[in-house]
Amino acid sequence: MSTNTFDCTIIGGGIVGLATSMILGRRQPGLSILLLEKEPELALHQTGRNSGVIHSGIYYKPGSFKATFARAGNRSMVEFCREHGIKHDICGKVIVATEDKELPLLEKLFQRGLENGLEVSRLSADQVREIEPHVACLAGLKVPSTGIVNYRTVSSKYAELIAGQGSIIRRGACVRAIKQGGGSVVLETNLGEFETRFVINCAGLHSDRVARMARVDPHAKIVPFRGEYYELIPSAHHLVKGLIYPVPNPAFPFLGVHFTRMIDGGVHAGPNAVLAFKREGYHKTDFSFQDFFETMSFSGFRKLARKHLREGWMEVRRSLSKRLFLRSLQRLIPEVTLDDLVPSHAGIRAQALMPDGQLVDDFLIVKGERSLHVCNAPSPAATASLEIGKAIAEQIPNLKTTSVTVP
Ligand SMILES: Cc1cc2nc3c(=O)[nH]c(=O)nc-3n(C[C@H](O)[C@H](O)[C@H](O)COP(=O)(O)OP(=O)(O)OC[C@H]3O[C@@H](n4cnc5c(N)ncnc54)[C@H](O)[C@@H]3O)c2cc1C
Repeated sequence: MSTNTFDCTIIGGGIVGLATSMILGRRQPGLSILLLEKEPELALHQTGRNSGVIHSGIYYKPGSFKATFARAGNRSMVEFCREHGIKHDICGKVIVATEDKELPLLEKLFQRGLENGLEVSRLSADQVREIEPHVACLAGLKVPSTGIVNYRTVSSKYAELIAGQGSIIRRGACVRAIKQGGGSVVLETNLGEFETRFVINCAGLHSDRVARMARVDPHAKIVPFRGEYYELIPSAHHLVKGLIYPVPNPAFPFLGVHFTRMIDGGVHAGPNAVLAFKREGYHKTDFSFQDFFETMSFSGFRKLARKHLREGWMEVRRSLSKRLFLRSLQRLIPEVTLDDLVPSHAGIRAQALMPDGQLVDDFLIVKGERSLHVCNAPSPAATASLEIGKAIAEQIPNLKTTSVTVP
């Protein structure tokens, strides 16, 4: 094989692409694997801009990929961190109801936790205060298996192990076109062409576009939602011991603004969920005509917007007003003040949306002739990255044999 020819190429150096490369390298030793990342560094997008929570899987529909992957992923992530000495903390979390109307939803969540096989317990308001003394609520749940970690640190360890397997990671290599023919696939990048027998698309916010480059129609389109965070100033850190979440709105996959103690220090408050006008637009004013036009001209987005106009407008107002953001946080901890909050980073969720306006709730993996496309890998994909990597690697044919058609 020439230096630019590989058995398998993975597009995207976020946590999903990295986990997939590492696990595929273990399952098919001797395979030549290339990972292409368009940025100069790995894990700069969703993976490096999230809440850093090792989720338990309490929220997800029993039997869904999300539920199964989150539960197994929680265990495998903790095991991985222990094995490789990565700083993490299984601090547990509380989910709290602050209004009467949330109590039935909290009970539903408790039942869901049990159905998902989790150790979860009901808490009275006093019991919540024993764990989080500054929270005001009517009742709560305790989920002990939730933890915190830095997913960029995890990703760096994956990259180190990938290099140890002899696989190659090319940073700064953006895939611009995919040509198929004969027995192989040619990936055109700014660093030249790479030939490969099989492609795995883990391109996150660009995964639908990369799928279309390979002439695979995922049906869904990625719609970017920005999640903005504030940080508590050090003198307010004592208000939060671990992780404090509200009861989520069942109509949305996002979890509502919450307090998260970060593994590297500090406490984050957020994220909200506002439509981003650019797929990697981390500032409110970032705008891309192509991204904006694609979202606005997509019938699925227009249907979603019509259905959830009120919620969407509320998110925009909260994004523009620190006072409104504070009000959401004060529902959990009334003592937090405007002066306790300073703006922090933002992340963009790659949310797949169907033409009928339905948000794709579960992971979406679409097969092509010589390719596999991860077209929706929302939270808890960082937690579940090792499980997603395993599931993908299981679907890859033995690339040392002649046939590469995905079964
Ligand atoms: C605000 C927020 C909070 C979250 N909180 C949590 C949490 O607490 N716990 C949790 O488990 N999950 C959380 N998530 C979800 C989690 O971060 C993501 O599901 C996960 O990081 C997805 O990883 P990925 O590798 O698919 O995507 P990404 O990390 O976005 O990686 C995709 C990569 O592909 C590259 N790429 C794209 N196009 C090309 C191309 N053409 N050529 C080459 N490279 C390309 C990009 O540069 C990028 O590096 C959160 C997400 C967000 C946005």
